[in-house]
Amino acid sequence: MERKYVAEPYKIKVVEPIAVTTQEQREKFIRDAGYNTFLLNSEEVYIDLLTDSGTTAMSDNQWAGMMQGDESYAGSKNFHNLQKAVKDLYGFKHTVPTHQGRGAENLLSQIMIQEGDVIPGNMYFTTTRAHQELNGATFRDVIIDEAHDSTYDHPFKGNVDLEKFQALIDEVGADYIPYICLAVTVNLAGGQPVSMENMKAVSNVSKKHNIKVMFDATRCVENAYFIKEREEGYADKTIAEILHEMMSYADGCTMSGKKDTLVNIGGFLALNDDELYQKATELVVVYEGMPSYGGMAGRDMEAMARGMYEAVDYNYIHHRVSQCQYLGDRLEEAGVPIVKPVGGHAVFLDAKKFYDHIPQDEFPAQTLAAQIYLESGVRSMERGIVSAGRDDDGNHYYPELELVRLTIPRRVYTYAHMDVVADSIIDLYNERAGVEGLKMVYESPVLRFFTARFEPLE
Ligand SMILES: *Cc1c(COP(=O)(O)O)cnc(C)c1O
Repeated sequence: MERKYVAEPYKIKVVEPIAVTTQEQREKFIRDAGYNTFLLNSEEVYIDLLTDSGTTAMSDNQWAGMMQGDESYAGSKNFHNLQKAVKDLYGFKHTVPTHQGRGAENLLSQIMIQEGDVIPGNMYFTTTRAHQELNGATFRDVIIDEAHDSTYDHPFKGNVDLEKFQALIDEVGADYIPYICLAVTVNLAGGQPVSMENMKAVSNVSKKHNIKVMFDATRCVENAYFIKEREEGYADKTIAEILHEMMSYADGCTMSGKKDTLVNIGGFLALNDDELYQKATELVVVYEGMPSYGGMAGRDMEAMARGMYEAVDYNYIHHRVSQCQYLGDRLEEAGVPIVKPVGGHAVFLDAKKFYDHIPQDEFPAQTLAAQIYLESGVRSMERGIVSAGRDDDGNHYYPELELVRLTIPRRVYTYAHMDVVADSIIDLYNERAGVEGLKMVYESPVLRFFTARFEPLE
């Protein structure tokens, strides 16, 4: 008989009870939270799909490693284990631990960027671009056009458009491009992967012009899995082999350990170049700590090192990505509008199509996120007009994409949970007529989506 899904390749040793609430309680909780899921307390949430960042469940092996934390100020044995894991799995010579991904982005941007430089990338990421700009660089998007179309099905929607990249080099001159930042996968495009062929091509163009290639490796294992599934010639290779080849096209990477190294906090900067590493060690003592711990406790480095080996286990990553796919498939079969293809860490609902009777300035995605919570206690996140903010004249930006993000934490929820999420969203979709939008009654001047408050329209 055909299997319904790729079931969990682990069993449960410890459980964390979660809030089972009534409709009446949820009505109060969401009203008190100003109809903003960011303002809900986690104790009011049944299934929390706000983010996959730092929400991972660690394994018994990782917890055992935490008991072997060597909290010496310098030269901790856990640092050597982390360094070895980076060398074994990614192939980079040097590792600088940081408190999380943005700590590594800070170091990389400071040591490589000079005022007036241009940094190409395959779509921006918030913290990555912020550090580039703080150091005087301009970010330029060189991702393929298809990445911006929510309905276009492409196996490697995160690819760099090589013509755009070459045109940028011709326009500003290679001397002003210290490196290209390649995100594998692309978070803001919905967790879309980059093909091995594209990485190789980007590396070739970069080498010719003496431009370095730096990966944002945050979700590199998910990217490796998509290569195995979708790219010719890789079906019989292991995830570890694919990951190693991917990294061979880079000179270094920044890593948010809160995602694909299966820990709750931490990150690192990895580099091959001795001189750049020297500079990074000079800076890390100012911002993070000694080069042998950076921003991390010994026990956290141990958990990260062990998590990195666990993440390249095929059974782990096969289940991880399949679980996202399962949720996407269930919604799609019921006609619910989602962004396609489903990426490695989340399913995105298209709120403009879901509530096509709610105008964008009555916040269809914010409304949908609040309705999903009311229906089932599931927490999601608005990624639309509220997140986009206002322009210099004080008008809303009206982004093309008005989305609700359902982000799946690693190893935390079961298929039964995914069914609850799917069933409640399908019910909402079937009852969508007549649902009214929201009005915003408070907003902060920057990053308003975190704290904005809303009320139902009369
Ligand atoms: C989360 C993330 C970062 C930043 O990492 P933090 O650990 O949150 O500082 C950078 N790039 C991408 C693609 C991310 O998803």
